[in-house]
Amino acid sequence: MGRLAQTDGLTDVQQEILSTVREFVDKEIIPVATELEHRDEYPTRIVEGLKELGVFGLMIPEEYGGLGESLLTYALCVEEIARGWMSVSGIINTHFIVAYMLKQHGTQEQREYFLPRMATGEVRGAFSMSEPGLGSDVSAITSKGVRDGDAYVLTGQKMWLTNGGSSTLVAVLCRTDEGHPEGTAPHKSMTTFLVEKEPGFGQVEPGLTIPGKIEKMGYKGVDTTELIMDGLRVPADRVLGGVTGRGFYQMMDGVEVGRVNVAARGCGVAQRAFELGVAYAQQRQTFGKPIAQHQAIQFKLAEMATKVEAAHAMMVNAARKKDSGRRNDLEAGMAKYLASEYCKEVVEDAFRIHGGYGFSKEYEIERLYREAPMLLIGEGTAEIQKMIIGRRLLEEYRIQG
Ligand SMILES: Cc1cc2nc3c(=O)[nH]c(=O)nc-3n(C[C@H](O)[C@H](O)[C@H](O)COP(=O)(O)OP(=O)(O)OC[C@H]3O[C@@H](n4cnc5c(N)ncnc54)[C@H](O)[C@@H]3O)c2cc1C
Repeated sequence: MGRLAQTDGLTDVQQEILSTVREFVDKEIIPVATELEHRDEYPTRIVEGLKELGVFGLMIPEEYGGLGESLLTYALCVEEIARGWMSVSGIINTHFIVAYMLKQHGTQEQREYFLPRMATGEVRGAFSMSEPGLGSDVSAITSKGVRDGDAYVLTGQKMWLTNGGSSTLVAVLCRTDEGHPEGTAPHKSMTTFLVEKEPGFGQVEPGLTIPGKIEKMGYKGVDTTELIMDGLRVPADRVLGGVTGRGFYQMMDGVEVGRVNVAARGCGVAQRAFELGVAYAQQRQTFGKPIAQHQAIQFKLAEMATKVEAAHAMMVNAARKKDSGRRNDLEAGMAKYLASEYCKEVVEDAFRIHGGYGFSKEYEIERLYREAPMLLIGEGTAEIQKMIIGRRLLEEYRIQG
C-alpha cells in the first residue's frame, strides 16, 4: 500500500473493515478483473465473496442485520473496490441507494420486509429514474402509475438500469397524478414504487420486461438494461413510505449519497491508474534511463498524485458532512465533479505513460481508459453538478439589499 489517499481519524473498526476489503480486492478482484471485463462476464464469485464479507449490508442498521456503518466507511470501501474493478462497485451502488432510501423513507413494514434480506445480499436493488427521452431532466418523466383498487398499474419505459437484470427489487420513479390537482409542480406528483421481480431477462413478471443487456464501451460485467412496464400491477403498500407524491424528493436524497459513492469510485480508479503509471515509468527505458527519470514524466506523476490526493480529500469531506447529519449537496456535488474529471485526467496520463502498450488489451490501463468516462455521466453529468454547486453558492453568498 502506498502513502496516497490515507484517511485520518478512522476508528479501529473502520480500519479493520477497510483492510479486509483491500485484501479481498488485491487477492480476488484485481487478478481476474480485466479478463472478466473483456468477456463482459458477471463476477458471480466476487459477488458471493462480498456477500460473505457483509459489504451488501455495510450501511444497513444492525437491527436489520447489517453492519450499521457510516457513509464514510462505505465510501472508503467503494474506493478500494473500484481500485480493483469499477464494475463491482456499480453492482453495490444501486443496491446501496435502494437500501438507503428504504432506511430513510420506507414504512416500518417495508424496512422489516426488505432490509434484512438486502443486508445479506439475497435481495439486490436497482434504481430507475432515467427514461429513453430524459436523464438530467428528471421532472419530465412520463412513466405513470394509476390507482386500481388495492394496487397501482404501471406503464412506461425506463432506461439505463444498472443491475436491471440481476436485481430482484427495483425502486421505480413514476408520475402519479392521483390527489394532485392539475397544475401541481411536476416534482410533487411523482412516486417511488418498490417493484419486486425475478432476476433475468425477457418477461420477468406479468407486465414487466427486461429486454436484455445494453452493449457498452466499458463498465462491462455489470448488467445495464431497459425496463418496460405494460400494465404492471404493484400493490399499494409498495409505494415507498406509503404516501404518493414524495418520489422526487426520495430519489434526490438517494442520488445525493450516490454522488459520494461515484466520487469514491473516481478516487479508486484514479489511484489504480496512478499505481499502474508509476510502476510502468520505473520499468520502461528510453534514451538510456527509466522514463520516470525524464522530468516530463515525473511532472506527470506529480500531477496525477496531487489529483488523487485532492479528490480523496473532497470525497472524505462530503461523506463526513452527511454522516454528521448536515446537508451535503454542495460538498457531494463538488466531490463528484472533481473526482470524475480528475479520474479521467489521471487515467489519460497513465495511458500516455504506457506509450503504445496502453493501447493493448493486455495492459490494465486499456480497461480503465474505457471505464473512466462513465463517471462523467452517472449520478448527474458535470453540467448538472455545476448547476447544483452554482445554485448553492448563490444561496450561501446572497448579497443583501
Ligand atoms: C452506464 C450507465 C449506467 C446508468 N445507470 C443508471 C441507473 O442505474 N438508474 C438511472 O435512473 N439512470 C442511470 N443512468 C442514466 C444517467 O443517470 C443519465 O445518462 C444521466 O443522468 C444523463 O442523462 P442523459 O443521458 O439523458 O443525458 P441528457 O440529460 O440528455 O444530457 C445530454 C447533455 O446535455 C447536458 N445538459 C442537460 N441539461 C443541461 C442543462 N440544463 N444545462 C447544461 N447542460 C445540460 C448534459 O450535461 C449532457 O452533456 C446510467 C447511465 C449510464 C451511461
